[in-house]
Amino acid sequence: MRAYSSRLLGRDSSLVLHGGGNTSVKGELTDVFGETRRVLFVKGSGWDLKNIGAAGFAPTDLNYLLRLAKLEQLSDGEMMRQLRLATLDPAAPNPSVEAILHALIPHRYVDHTHADAVVTLSNSPDGERILRELYGDEVLVLPYIMPGFILARQVAAATRGADWSALRGIMLLQHGIFSFHEDAEGSYEAMIELVDRAESELLRRAGKNHGTPTSPAKNPGKHGTPTAPPLELSRLRKAAGEIHGKIHGTPMLVRLDAGPEAKAFAQLDDCGELIRRGPLTPDHTLHAKPFGAVFDADTVPGLRAFEQEYLRYFSDHADENHQCLDAAPRYGVWRDKGMIYLAPNCKRLEIVADISAHTIRAIRLAEAIGGWRTLPREKLFEVEYWELEQAKLAKARAALELQGRIALVTGAASGIGRATVEELRGRGAAVIALDIREMEGLESPQVLCLRCDVTDSDAVESALNQGVLHFGGLDILISNAGNFPASASLAEMTDAAWEQSMQLNLGSHMKVLRACLPLLENGFDPAVVFVASKNVPAPGPGAAAYSAAKAGLTQLARVAALEAGPLGIRVNVVHPNAVYDTGIWTEEVLSERARRYGMDVEQYRTSNLLGLEVSSHDVAASIVSLAGAAFSHTTGAQVPVDGGNERVI
Ligand SMILES: [Zn+2]
Repeated sequence: MRAYSSRLLGRDSSLVLHGGGNTSVKGELTDVFGETRRVLFVKGSGWDLKNIGAAGFAPTDLNYLLRLAKLEQLSDGEMMRQLRLATLDPAAPNPSVEAILHALIPHRYVDHTHADAVVTLSNSPDGERILRELYGDEVLVLPYIMPGFILARQVAAATRGADWSALRGIMLLQHGIFSFHEDAEGSYEAMIELVDRAESELLRRAGKNHGTPTSPAKNPGKHGTPTAPPLELSRLRKAAGEIHGKIHGTPMLVRLDAGPEAKAFAQLDDCGELIRRGPLTPDHTLHAKPFGAVFDADTVPGLRAFEQEYLRYFSDHADENHQCLDAAPRYGVWRDKGMIYLAPNCKRLEIVADISAHTIRAIRLAEAIGGWRTLPREKLFEVEYWELEQAKLAKARAALELQGRIALVTGAASGIGRATVEELRGRGAAVIALDIREMEGLESPQVLCLRCDVTDSDAVESALNQGVLHFGGLDILISNAGNFPASASLAEMTDAAWEQSMQLNLGSHMKVLRACLPLLENGFDPAVVFVASKNVPAPGPGAAAYSAAKAGLTQLARVAALEAGPLGIRVNVVHPNAVYDTGIWTEEVLSERARRYGMDVEQYRTSNLLGLEVSSHDVAASIVSLAGAAFSHTTGAQVPVDGGNERVI
């Protein structure tokens, strides 16, 4: 029941966003000596309520927690050590930083959320009075205090001698709300009922004045499609990545949200001033920084202004123990166009997008009831630069090789293309996957799948624009789309077969490259890899249309290496051979070919110098390495991936 009702709360994004809440249940355990221990099962840090199970709750010694609560002082670092000591299972996650507070509440079930409605109300000038009137004696309303040991002390002091049976909840201004009950259902229902009351009051007071979903955006783009220039976004990403890279060594992903709410917000006259005032709740600073950026048509000056303001905020509040975080924004408003999100990886990008969406909705509601007020920056700084967070920096894992980088792969539905998408994803890159066919099972936050006929220049342009609005730019192009036409001697060659091969196996690569080049210029260590064929150095009879197109493609790559080298863009070619795990090589075709050469299938598969079978994943690993740091000083190269071929060597 504890895990179940926690998940119910976690799945409602207006209650809990990305780790912003916690729950507990009190019970008993019998230890190995047969003694009964009172236990607080409290949400473990690192677990999300949305998908928590029993294993996500840390069994913690309740008496020990209650003794800790009586200490006069405890640093948060020491508190976390003590919480670890108090757990009764060494395999359990670390107990939530709010564990002591949960222990202090005598009820069996305790639920805590950062509900939008209650924090939005408390972020308005009359918020505290409205909340006190709304809840009367049922809810204890406490002023903001930073989470951690001092918050637990504050709650202990405020509830000393309290009649818990008359209380249904505790409201922490600018932070969130607690509900509690003897059973899971009662606590859950109290949470929903208390938050509903705040929400109705908020909407009643805001009237129709808050301009969210219903107000149509001014000057919507043609057919409602976003009209923002992807190239400008790639410039912004370049500059932001340089700021981020100074601290972390990796670039950032950037996304434009031109949906109706984001666009309506961007069209407010004072959107720039509003987004800089502060976050919905201080814990959002950990993912999204203490304030937003403001971008005009030319975006880079807005980024520089944010950087200056952030560094000033740091030096205003830091002491010598603080380590400055990167000064790149996580969200910002692009006047008239929408909201821009920035993050080091795809997961963080989704988090920032959610936080931003909830924040601008709250801003508009609070503006409608008297004005958007947030905590002063020194309070935000306390949370963003909390000792527990700073300690995590020291333990941060090394980034994946291609984290923050963006790749485009054509022909991504199967074979070498699909394997390349998987390889890029495994090394941390965000991927724009194009194919004319359905790309089943490939779509994820890290992989944007777009159906596209790469022989059509307009289709390529439009898919690329969509991809860039989603991830912010382009660093790597893997130009792979192609097919192997039916074997035909020159005497049998039809015009159609010849032209089809030229269009797909040669022409499309030029079109994709042409569209990508301006974006690659703003890329990080930009690289292009063309997938050609062993048939270029060693053609075979019956494959003129294929071999001639792939030879043309190789020549295209060589010219591209010459032209793009001065722009810092590398262009290399792989020549795979005999990759039999791709769609064209059915068991039937394989055994037919093997018979023709007088071999069995196994001999045929490995008929190369190394005697190895070449899989599409082997080719993908070579392709991605060519695009990565290992070959950062190589351009114009042709690399065989064929197990060794006498005719090529
Ligand atoms: Zn909280």
